[in-house]
Amino acid sequence: MIKVRNLSKHFGELVVLKDISIDISKGEVISVIGPSGTGKSTLLRCLNLLEVPTGGNIFIDDVPLLDKNTNVPKLRQKMGMVFQSFNLYAHLPVLENLTIGPVKLLGKKKAEANEKAFELLKVVGLAEKAYSFPDELSGGQKQRVAIARCMAMEPEILLFDEPTSALDPTMVSEVLAVIRRLSREGMTMVIVTHEMEFARNTSSRVFYMDEGLIYEEGTPQQIFDNPRKEKTKAFINRIRSLNCHISSNDYDLYAMQGEMETFCEKHMLSKRVTGYVLHIAEEVLVLQKDFSDINLNLSYSEKEGDVELRCESAGPLFNPLKDETLEDDIGLKLIKGRCKSVDHVYEDGKNILLLRIKGE
Ligand code: ADP
Ligand code: MG
Repeated sequence: MIKVRNLSKHFGELVVLKDISIDISKGEVISVIGPSGTGKSTLLRCLNLLEVPTGGNIFIDDVPLLDKNTNVPKLRQKMGMVFQSFNLYAHLPVLENLTIGPVKLLGKKKAEANEKAFELLKVVGLAEKAYSFPDELSGGQKQRVAIARCMAMEPEILLFDEPTSALDPTMVSEVLAVIRRLSREGMTMVIVTHEMEFARNTSSRVFYMDEGLIYEEGTPQQIFDNPRKEKTKAFINRIRSLNCHISSNDYDLYAMQGEMETFCEKHMLSKRVTGYVLHIAEEVLVLQKDFSDINLNLSYSEKEGDVELRCESAGPLFNPLKDETLEDDIGLKLIKGRCKSVDHVYEDGKNILLLRIKGE
């Protein structure tokens, strides 16, 4: 359905897309992931010609997009794009946001456009808001209207550029649920996202972008569980774990525990396990002597279902597990009692404590 061949895009000297070739079939859901600045937005914008590519070609149903004789506006209508920032018409009520395009560009009758608009508002759960103005809606509701407005143009492909990154965390799931529903209904979609759980569960394929290329692609299992290439591995490891750095005694324990809690929630750990993790992290810090350079790293291993807490602290050798003065220490007992394993190593002038906490 979409065929991209040797696509490149330069901004002056800056080469953003080097050489991209992809094939996307009807009904596929592609997640595009990767560090920021790697050209994910530029790729989407090239796909629907919001940016003119420097080289290569794009074929939609075998029609070349970049040939002079191609009817570009018509082809572009096949592709709807949803942006991070909604882009609704603020002066129009929701219903008219959905009907203006079909009436003006597709030549639909008002009554027909209205009927279709209501149908779509039901799909995104917002029929009740048909006569509200965008201002009166929450971010999540606005984004759902934006998706319905796109659908009103009857596109064959939907492109999403980080559709949830401008939203409060509480509203992310309502938007993702709508996208999931569209995927179940067979919509072809390309989604640039930072929501890794979503990418893993909803997409048929994942593109990892780096170096101006689709650096690695594969099924969600391949990319998330078995990335083959160096940069993909590093990226997946980074998003898999949480790093907190402490550089003085006055560190903000509560902010850190807040981040850890969010991390645990994201990996759907139970309240009980989350509580253990926060408590154990706190006790591990109590055992530290030097706070000038501590790295706390929390990672979740999906295979074993364990949470690993790694505490690296620069300073002379000190193993709290072997320290006799700590034999009766309640914190240390708690750590040993709740962890599957607790180990200490001294490496490169750092004391490293490795704790495995059982996921369930
Ligand atoms: P991503 O979406 O992966 O974060 P972008 O596609 O937005 O990356 O940007 C990739 C690179 O291209 C960045 O270095 C950005 O500064 C640059 N870039 C994007 N759009 C333009 C533009 N219109 N003019 C000049 N540079 C741009
Ligand atoms: Mg972007």
